[in-house]
Amino acid sequence: MASPEDHATLSASSSSRWLSCTPSVVFSAPYDKERKDTTFTAEGTAAHALAELKLQLDTGKITKRKFNSQFKKFKADSEFYSTSFEEFVDDYVGFVNETIASYEQPEVELEQRVNFSDWVPEGFGTSDVVIMTDSVLHIVDLKFGKGVPVSAIENTQLMLYALGTYYEFNLAYDFETVRMTIHQPRLYDTSTYELSVKELLDWGDNFVKPRAKLAMSGEGEFVPSEKACRFCPAKAVCKARADKNLQDAIKYDFADSNELEPGQISDILTNSKEIKKWLEDIEEWALIQARDKGQHFDGWKLVEGRSNRKITNADVAASILTEAGYSDIFKPQELLTLTNLEKLVGKKKFGELLNDIIVKPEGKPTLVVETDKRPEISSIGQAVKDFE
Ligand code: SF4
Repeated sequence: MASPEDHATLSASSSSRWLSCTPSVVFSAPYDKERKDTTFTAEGTAAHALAELKLQLDTGKITKRKFNSQFKKFKADSEFYSTSFEEFVDDYVGFVNETIASYEQPEVELEQRVNFSDWVPEGFGTSDVVIMTDSVLHIVDLKFGKGVPVSAIENTQLMLYALGTYYEFNLAYDFETVRMTIHQPRLYDTSTYELSVKELLDWGDNFVKPRAKLAMSGEGEFVPSEKACRFCPAKAVCKARADKNLQDAIKYDFADSNELEPGQISDILTNSKEIKKWLEDIEEWALIQARDKGQHFDGWKLVEGRSNRKITNADVAASILTEAGYSDIFKPQELLTLTNLEKLVGKKKFGELLNDIIVKPEGKPTLVVETDKRPEISSIGQAVKDFE
């Protein structure tokens, strides 16, 4: 979710990058200007607002009457509200309520602004939900995206928020354990990471603090990695990233054999995702430079892309064709896509009505990394061998 703290020089949301590649913040600053908030972040902001409202009611922070009027206003004003949007928010709210109920007499704070500037200059953030007991500090974070699951394990954004939350409340409590949970209702994913207060403070004092200092002054080593470079504004022009990908792509001495060994193919497959992404980033960046800034790249030129003809006014076209005596000019009525129908009807109702006639066809066999959560399937070759 985009929030004011995301515009700090060293934002928590980009911390996994600047903590590993410390010069990246200063180096990428000139490329950072054109970044805009996307629809996804606006949708995430809306989901956080609705979740907060519902949790305020559930934790007794607002009356039912106040909730009703604010909920009505939210539904009327939000461009993102739909039955399924609310169901996903409810899933998160239900999860938070269950987590709160698992503690004895906890204190709960919602959308708690926290300050971790003792460790990171200008370090501020917002903890979505803070649950506190005498010995445990638990923060829960909603991620509303439906792209990739975000793990709470060693998640530096959450750990910085945990430092700030600890700083805010440690005088009143005797925390020993810090828990951090990320719940992603649209990906049906939840993960929790736990460490002792001592470990968290050690990390803050001995790792974050010195690296934040390096990052502020643009010092340290460039350390390209899939995770660090993915959202770096300089990802297309960074030489360190290019060097790494080129070395990964050509690190073999093929002189001994005309054929790649299976082990070499494994290595190439492992690197291929990041190398493809890097090539796409360069193509996209070069197009923007050529189109918007007139930059010339030797051997390349800007041309108009291919496009398909379009009828500008379908009603007028239909009446002209009908008058001319053509009758079979309309497509039969089509059902909306499954996703759009589910959005229209709501996930629960949709399941009740149509579960019996929805099937999920077998997906095409796909080669993925071993750590992927999907179970391995037998290959045709293996089945033949087993049969033999
Ligand atoms: S692209 Fe990667 S290596 Fe280069 S500055 Fe950004 S994070 Fe560092």
